[in-house]
This record gives sequence, structure tokens and C-alpha cells, in this order.
Amino acid sequence: MATKAKDKKYVYSFGGGKADGNESMKNLLGGKGANLAEMAGNPNLKLPVPPGFTITTDVCTYYYDNKRTYPAILKSQIEKAMVSVEKIMGKKFGDVKNPLLMSVRSGARKSMPGMMDTVLNIGLTEKTIQGLIDNSGDARFAYDAYRRLVMMYADVVMEKAGGLEPAEGKGIRKIMDEVLEDLKKEKGYKIDTDLTVEDLKSLVVEFKKLIKKHLKQEFPEDAWGQLMGGVGAVFASWNGKRAVEYRSIERIPDEWGTAVNVQAMVFGNMGEGSCTGVAFTRNPGNGENYFYGEYLVNAQGEDVVAGIRTPSPINDKSKNDHSKDLVTLQKLSPKVYKELDSIQKRLEKHYHDMQDIEFTVEQGKLFMLQCRVGKRNGSAAVRMAADMYKEKMIDAATAIQRVNPNQLVELLLPMLDPKAEATTKPIAKGLPAGPGGAIGRVVFSSEDAVAWAAKGEKVILVREETSPEDVDGMHKAQAILTSKGGMTSHAALVARGWGKCCIVGCSEIEISGKKMICKDGHEVKEGDWISLNGTKGLVYEGMMALSDVDLAKNKAYTELMKLVDKYKTIGVRTNADTPKDAKQAIEFGAEGIGLFRTEHMFYGEGSDRPLFLLRKMIMSSTEEERRAALDQLFGFVKKDMKATMAVMKGKPVTIRLLDPPLHEFVPHDKHKLEELANALGINMDILKKRIDGLHENNPMLGHRGVRLGITYPEITEMQIRAILEAAGELNKEKAKALPEIMVPVTCTVEELDHQKAIFDRVYAEVCKKLKVKSIPHLYGTMIEIPRAALLADKMAQTADFFSFGTNDLTQMGFGFSRDDIGGFLPDYLGGKILADDPFQTIDQDGIGQLIKYGVERGRATKPNLKVGICGEHGGDPESVKFCHRMGMNYVSCSPFRVPIARLAAAHAAIEEQKSAKKAAPKKASKKVVAKKAAPAKKAAAKKVAKKR
Ligand code: ADP
Ligand code: MG
Ligand code: MG
Repeated sequence: MATKAKDKKYVYSFGGGKADGNESMKNLLGGKGANLAEMAGNPNLKLPVPPGFTITTDVCTYYYDNKRTYPAILKSQIEKAMVSVEKIMGKKFGDVKNPLLMSVRSGARKSMPGMMDTVLNIGLTEKTIQGLIDNSGDARFAYDAYRRLVMMYADVVMEKAGGLEPAEGKGIRKIMDEVLEDLKKEKGYKIDTDLTVEDLKSLVVEFKKLIKKHLKQEFPEDAWGQLMGGVGAVFASWNGKRAVEYRSIERIPDEWGTAVNVQAMVFGNMGEGSCTGVAFTRNPGNGENYFYGEYLVNAQGEDVVAGIRTPSPINDKSKNDHSKDLVTLQKLSPKVYKELDSIQKRLEKHYHDMQDIEFTVEQGKLFMLQCRVGKRNGSAAVRMAADMYKEKMIDAATAIQRVNPNQLVELLLPMLDPKAEATTKPIAKGLPAGPGGAIGRVVFSSEDAVAWAAKGEKVILVREETSPEDVDGMHKAQAILTSKGGMTSHAALVARGWGKCCIVGCSEIEISGKKMICKDGHEVKEGDWISLNGTKGLVYEGMMALSDVDLAKNKAYTELMKLVDKYKTIGVRTNADTPKDAKQAIEFGAEGIGLFRTEHMFYGEGSDRPLFLLRKMIMSSTEEERRAALDQLFGFVKKDMKATMAVMKGKPVTIRLLDPPLHEFVPHDKHKLEELANALGINMDILKKRIDGLHENNPMLGHRGVRLGITYPEITEMQIRAILEAAGELNKEKAKALPEIMVPVTCTVEELDHQKAIFDRVYAEVCKKLKVKSIPHLYGTMIEIPRAALLADKMAQTADFFSFGTNDLTQMGFGFSRDDIGGFLPDYLGGKILADDPFQTIDQDGIGQLIKYGVERGRATKPNLKVGICGEHGGDPESVKFCHRMGMNYVSCSPFRVPIARLAAAHAAIEEQKSAKKAAPKKASKKVVAKKAAPAKKAAAKKVAKKR
């Protein structure tokens, strides 16, 4: 307990060129509050921000700790802050003659679509409205503001935050909207701005009656009552269903709490000289460096985002197919545009990052209502990082850290096959809000998206527009398609954040029940397949092929990755079993193969003959028979390995000896069984008996890996001979090869020694046969059984390298069956018993201890022991960082995760440098200049790797 609640500052003011807070105070003031303070008060900015105050996140914490009550002192702090707003504005809150109106805005540390929506025009009542009319000289405007307040307040404060369940699923907002639409229809109006004063007056009366009828309460007709109702609603919404859902997806801690911003209203709906808009300092869709945004004349607040009218572009660059004929702000009001443009430039320079800004113009006067670091998709993030580095706005380390490794997934994202697209006519066109291609079956509700996806269906969520209630379904869908909304709509914002394919504002479709009808007559029903091109905004019927993109053509990407390679110290390899995968991985920057699985050649294309021979080998009953089958198999294995090693051109290739349990290779098909019996010269009864003999109760822990090689040394012998001959021949052909032979599923050094004896004998034989003195190679083992990690010092006596097989290590360390975890993992994650799926990201607390111990003990025996990791963890950014901290030489992951792992590796190196700088005393830290430290450290790491 630092300060007593009664002495604490709970309210921070901003406005009039001053602010109590600043940008660094996000934890206390929330993101919106901290940035409002920064814009208003920072000496370099002092932007025109309407005055207001922020109620801190501490109040939220207090509220939940104290049965939803406030600190006693809060009220007087708010009243004091209100007085200073009143002074600046020259109006009084709740005053009959000259009423001040306020907005109540939520604001957590990170922007959260699940939070309470902003309520505007607070302080308007039957008593104060005349004052607003007198002061503005515009009764229509005043009543428009009033009807908005009544609608918003009823919806977000009274119903949603009040936790009222709408009857028959129809909320008060929807009921009111229908009344409004009916009135417009009756009078023949097209848009909201056609409504007259009289219309608006009658709507307000009607709305209040509806509130009483449906919500069983009166609309509060007193300014302070409205204000405190709004404040309470923001706090209550922190634990609303939508916010809780969003937090769990985005991993935002429940303890953070939200702040509340209360701010003097400025009016974008005061006629034709007023407007409201949203803009970005660079295009968030592709990262290009130009001011980009939309605005609406004579509108307020969320009108731009809600897609009620098509927003106009702020400048020519911001035009899209829908808005190309609308008047730009630049043209409409050059003076305002110039001021806005200069502010956006200053903001970007000040924050050193792309800003997402909200503004309102009241009768020609510009006000800034929000700024924050703008969300961007992966391609845009890469582009901006590379550009800003070139512009010297940020340094290399910052550029690297600006891109979240997982965002690169989008650049690797499949696209609709261009050839197929060229010959197909789209059924509709909308706005390209999230790039990439996607195919899926159409669903029309978030619930359906969740339910279908749970059954393993690929779905595309189609809605008129999305709202925070849809977040779960949007997350589960392959892509999102909306018929309304613009590039700054909810769907676009959320999809952009996730890097999801998304098309918005597709007005060429109309949704009716579980059908969408296209303007060109096409009808798409629930469950039908469609294909989306999110980069261009095109919708196609049916299932189109997806094709890969060519990363080498992306200049920003290649520039950024050059920086990445300067920083990262840990190597990145790939898991690849074929020349094709290996080639792909090298293009993505792989430095070797960390896992080549021998058994892949018995699956898939061209595997018929080798598989048959393998089966023959398995079904053999004597060593003689087995050797005969192995001899036949030898040629296939050697050819296969040679092909992959050839592609790698001397880069290390870790080849794992045969691992899976034998029974997996036994045929089930009768015809295949007969063929096998014939080849072995036995009858079906005997064959069946031999098959029965292979049955295991727990094959995962059964006769697999090195255990096969112990029982049948000739199997090991054949593989080693194939590898060494392939490598030796490549070397003679001057093609270079570096195999690393990896023995799987070991738990004692005696197993390794046993197999090493075979290796040594075969090695001598192959050298003699090829007439060479040596064949470069390493002999090592997988560490995937906890016992092997515990006895790593012994294992390292024989092994030249360790590769942590973290899939099995996790399985055996937890005692969780990899194949059965699906049955209980959801309960573990839902109940917060586990924070993450340990098969997705390394369990650093537990399994991580085994790894740490294994690395330390292994290197205690052999200081230059090479250590890596294989298994899908190698492509998980957090796991890559962990491996870096463990001092591993490399991680290995599937080809498509290689760029992600490289970026994560650079992040790890930068984080380490930064924390070393923090820890080091001031003088020393000066020497560790980021740019210089990176290559030096890299060279050191390389030395270690080379020594081996
Ligand atoms: P969100 O978190 O959804 O962006 P905001 O609190 O920014 O919500 O509010 C949404 C919109 O409401 C703003 O972009 C702005 O147009 C409008 N708004 C909020 N406060 C005010 C105000 N004091 N004056 C005028 N408009 C406001
Ligand atoms: Mg909002
Ligand atoms: Mg906003």
C-alpha cells in the first residue's frame, strides 16, 4: 500500500495546451488517455485537442476490488477537473443557458474492440437542449445530437453494460434503428441528414418510450446522472462477455483494467462546414508512404466506421472504387486539409511510427480526437519498417522489432491462383481490407463460424458488418466478407490486426437470411464454397486453387531480412525430407536441414516399390531374408538421400535413422497382403501370424527408433551405408555433402555405442570402397526421452551433436499423449491450468529445464557439442527465443516457418543486447553499440559452431 486511497490522484486533466499525463503513462491512463495527454500537452505538439480528463485504471481496479464502488475522493476530483474544462470551453456542464456536452470514452492500455462504445453528447437533457439551440442557432443539429445520445446511451450504458438480455435477441439499438428507418422510408428520405427537426423531435419522444417499455427504466434527464452512468458502464464493460473473449484471444491480462476518458464535445455534425474522419499517416494496407484516410461531412463519431454512408476520401491517393467520385477533403477545404496534413506529419515524426488518427472539424475548425500507433497487416509492417529505416526515422534494431515474426505468415500467405483468376469472372467486388487469398464455405453468423470450424470446416464469415460480438467467429473463419463498412470499419480493423484475408463494403451482395444474393444474380447459400482475393477485393464462386507468392520479389522484405541476418546469432535450419522442400527452405534462408526423416520415402509419390520392399523386410523371419530385402531397398534409400544432400550443396543435413513403429507399415489391403506373402514364399496364415506378432499395446513407447537398430543391426547398417556412400560420392563429384547421422529415441549411451560400432565398421568399408580417406560427417543423437536429457553428460561422450526432439520430450515429460491431448487440452486451457498448448510452444518452466540441463551437461563433457532442436517448436517465435537463450547452435522448422524463425532469432538477439545494456554499468554500456555488437557476437557464435 504505497499511498492511501484518499491521497491518490485518480483524475488527470488535459487541454488548453497542458496535460497532467503523457504518452508514457499508458498503464495508468490507458492508450487513448495517454495519447490525448501527449497530443494536448507535449511542448512539441500542443495540438488542438478538446479539453477533458482521464479517470485512471486504478479506479477500475478499486471498483472490482470493492464490490463495484469508487474511492470516496473520486467525485470531488472529477468535479474539479470538470471546472477546468468549463473554463477552457466557456460553457458549463448541466447548465441550462450554455450547456457543455461531454463524451465518455473507454480506453485500456491496448485498444480493445470488446470495450464499451463511446457515448457522445452527454449532458443533453430536456432542460439543457434549449441552451444548445440558442447557442448554436441550429435546432436540427441540437435534436440530432439528442437523438444520438438517447440511442447510444440506451444501447451501450443501459442495455449492454447493464447486462440486460434483449428479448428475442433484438436489442434496443436495433429496435430504434428500425423506427428510424421506417420514418425515413415513410418520408421518402435517403440518408439520415434528410431528417428534419420535427422528425428528430418526434424520434426522441418515441425512443424514450421504447426505453421505458423494453428496458423498464427512464432515460436519465440530468447531466451528472448521465455522466456517472457512462463512467460506470465503461468499468462494467471491462468484464463484459465481449471484452473477456477478446482478452483471451489476444492474451491481454484481466488485471490491467480500463481507464475512462471524459472529453468536451466538438461537433462534426454542425452542417456542411463540419465533418469527422479517420486517417493513417501511411497506408495500413500495403505500407506505402502517403497520408491515407476517410471522412464524412455533417456527421458525428462512429458514422465513418459504421458504414452508414460511404465515406469520402481525404485526398486523391485515398480513393477507392466506391469513393472515386466523391469530393476529397483536400478539395472541399484546402485550409483544413493542409493543417491536418501538417499535424499528421508532426505526429509520425514525434512517435517515430505510423499513427492512426481521428479528427473532427467543427465549422471549419480542426480538432484532434485520438492518435495511436496504427495497426497494419504483415506486408505493410515489413514495408514500413524497411522504409522508416531508410528514412532514418528508426534504427535497424527497431525496424526488426517492428515486425512481429508471426506477421510474416501473411507474406507467405497463399494467393488465389492467378491463372485461375484470370479466366474467372468475380461475382462481386468490395474493398480490399486484408490481403491474401482464402477459400471456404459460407456461414452467416459468428456462432456458425465457431461451430463449423470446430468440426474442421473451412469457413468464410459473411455479414452485413461486424461488431465486437463477432470477434470469436471472425477469429475462427478463414476470411471475412462484409457487405457494408469502409476501410476503417470494425471488420477491416480487426482483420488487419490479425493479418486475415478480408473484404469489406461489398455492396454488390445482399444478405438475406442464410443466403447472399449478388447484383449479377448469383445466389450463394450457407455451406457453398467461395474464394476471396483480399488483395483486390474480389469474390469468386466455388473453390479456386491457391498458389504461393514469390518472396524474392518483395524488396522491403529482402531489405529487412538482410538486417535480420546481421543481428541473429542462432542458426535456422529446416525440416525437409525431399529435394523440393529443401530447395524451398533454402530460398527462405535455411542454413541446413535439421531433420530429414528417412521414413518419408515410404509415403506418398513413388513410394510403392520402396514400401513394398520395406514391408518385405519387416515380414522377414530370418536375418538372411531380411538382408536380402534390405539389399534391394538400399538403392532407393541411397538415391533419395543423395538427391536431398545434392540440393543442400554441403550445408549440413541431419538424417534421422528409421524411427516409427514397424506395425505402421503393415498393409491392410488384402491384395497387398497376398502380394507380400507371394514375395516371401509363405502362405497367408503365416503372414498373418507374423503381423500379429508385431502388435503393440503402446506403440509410442514400443519397438521403435534405436530399439529397431539394436534388434536388427542390419537395418542400421543399410541406412548408414546408404548415407555414407551418397555423401562420399557427392564429395568425389565435387558437389560436397555434410551428413549428420542422428540416432532417435535413445535413453542411454550404451545404445549410442552399440550403433556407433556399426557405424565405424561401415565407415571404414565405404571409405575403402570409394577409395577416399575420409567422409565428413557427424554422429549424434536426438534427445527426446527425459532420461537422455538427465544423462546428457554420458550421451555426449559418444554424440557429436544433440538435437532436442521436443515433441516427444514434451509428450514423455508431461505424460501427455500427443495423439490424445485433444480430449482434455481445451479444459486445461479454458480453466487456465495450462497457459499454452505445450506442443505449440515449449513449456519453458518444465520441459525447458530438461533442455537447459541437457545442454549444460552435454557441453560439460564436450564443450563444442553442437546443439539444436527439431520439431515444430522450432518455428514458434517464443520457442526460438528460448533456444537462443539456451545457447543452441540452431533451430529447425518446416520450410514455411524459416523466415519467421529467422526474424524471431533476430528479436532474441536484440532483446538480449538490450537487457545486457540495461544491466551493464553506464560506461560499459556505451561500448556496446547495437550495430557493432551484433556482427561481433555473430562471429563468436560462428566460431563455436565451426569448432564443433
Ligand atoms: P473507439 O475506441 O471506438 O475509437 P472513441 O472513443 O475514439 O472510440 O470514439 C469514437 C468516435 O467518437 C471518435 O472517433 C470521434 O469521432 C467521436 N468522439 C469521441 N469523443 C468526442 C468528442 N469529445 N467530440 C467529438 N467527437 C468525439
Ligand atoms: Mg468504437
Ligand atoms: Mg477512436
